[in-house]
Amino acid sequence: MAEEKKPVRKKIKATGEMQRIMADYFYEMDDAAKTGKKKIAWCTSVGPAELLRAMGLLVHFPENHGAMLGATRMSTDYIPVANAAGYSPDICSYLTADVGAYMKGVTPLSKAYKGIESVPKPDVLVYNTNQCRDVQDWFMWYAKEFNVPCIGIHTHRGVGDVKESHITSVAKQMEALVEPLEEISGTKFDMDALRHTVSLSRECSDLWKEVLDTASAVPSPLTFFDGTIHMGPAVVLRGTQQPVDYYKLLLAELQERIKNKDGAVEDERFRLYWDGMPVWGRLSNHSKLFSELRTNVLASTYCNSWIFTAFDADDPFNSMAKAYTELFIVRSDEAKEKYIKNMMDFFKVDGIIYHDAKTCPNNSNCRYGMPQRLEKVTGLPSLTINGDLNDMRLVSDEQTKTNVEAFIEQLEEKK
Ligand code: SF4
Repeated sequence: MAEEKKPVRKKIKATGEMQRIMADYFYEMDDAAKTGKKKIAWCTSVGPAELLRAMGLLVHFPENHGAMLGATRMSTDYIPVANAAGYSPDICSYLTADVGAYMKGVTPLSKAYKGIESVPKPDVLVYNTNQCRDVQDWFMWYAKEFNVPCIGIHTHRGVGDVKESHITSVAKQMEALVEPLEEISGTKFDMDALRHTVSLSRECSDLWKEVLDTASAVPSPLTFFDGTIHMGPAVVLRGTQQPVDYYKLLLAELQERIKNKDGAVEDERFRLYWDGMPVWGRLSNHSKLFSELRTNVLASTYCNSWIFTAFDADDPFNSMAKAYTELFIVRSDEAKEKYIKNMMDFFKVDGIIYHDAKTCPNNSNCRYGMPQRLEKVTGLPSLTINGDLNDMRLVSDEQTKTNVEAFIEQLEEKK
């Protein structure tokens, strides 16, 4: 008897082009680190990248490196190294994986890009605590290690409505970074250069939003798992031309899929929203698990976190302060719930998955009754998956599979 064909997630053709621009990005930085041609800043993932680029700095994102350690399933081996150095197994596993790998002289960049032997040595580290406090501790560790300055922005957290006072306070802190950055980069600050990077970031953000919004089509041409890969250029190259060109290409492909009613998951039957961090070491397992149940996890808080609609080249500092403060992760539960409800409506989902990531309370929104409150408002069911972004010792594949299958059965009964 012929075996039943299982639905799969379809490949995106533009992936090759994305890999090319990511390779160029890493090689340019590696070259700069080896030759000293350009100065390098390390920046948090939602830090002031536009300002750093305007000062002529190349920008490395340790969280992106942490995610690479997770996706290549190297992270779990190196987390204990950082634990032994006093960084608890309960804190951010991006931090512990990244520091542990550095202490052992290992990087996934070497496997992916021939000739790259290490992360690029920073000339300065720049953080924004808008996402969590862990990033500051993380960057301080490297500042000591490399004996370079670590400067940053302290953002209010648990913000309800973003007020003028929040924006002014953050904008002032951003402006205060200019002087030390001029000294480190050897470049005089130029407002027009900042306007240019902010405008490119805005263009990137608008296109990335259009890409993610295509998932509202039925069937959806995109999955959350595609999003976690294709967000790379928006994270590490915003403020440059490359992601703008790339997202035009990707968008055209997705629009073509919509026109042909070509869903990313064959025979899409259920549509889900994902809240929280991806489980980097299980991206393909999770993608397969849901596809085989003809379920598309198609939208997420996570991928949408690199949409910055406030960026305005006419008012760079204030608009950057607004964009980096009105982010989901910075906000109060009330604001977050309103956001998720809108997303669930817009993407026409049948339910929501919360990932309770053990080492990232900042991106785990299910711990204080949010699933229950949202269920009341939306009437849609939820499932919480316990796991982690990078520490695979905290992930139970069996339990995840059983829980997801039971959840889909519950959705079947409701159909
Ligand atoms: S938000 Fe979470 S995953 Fe990101 S750096 Fe902070 S603790 Fe780590």
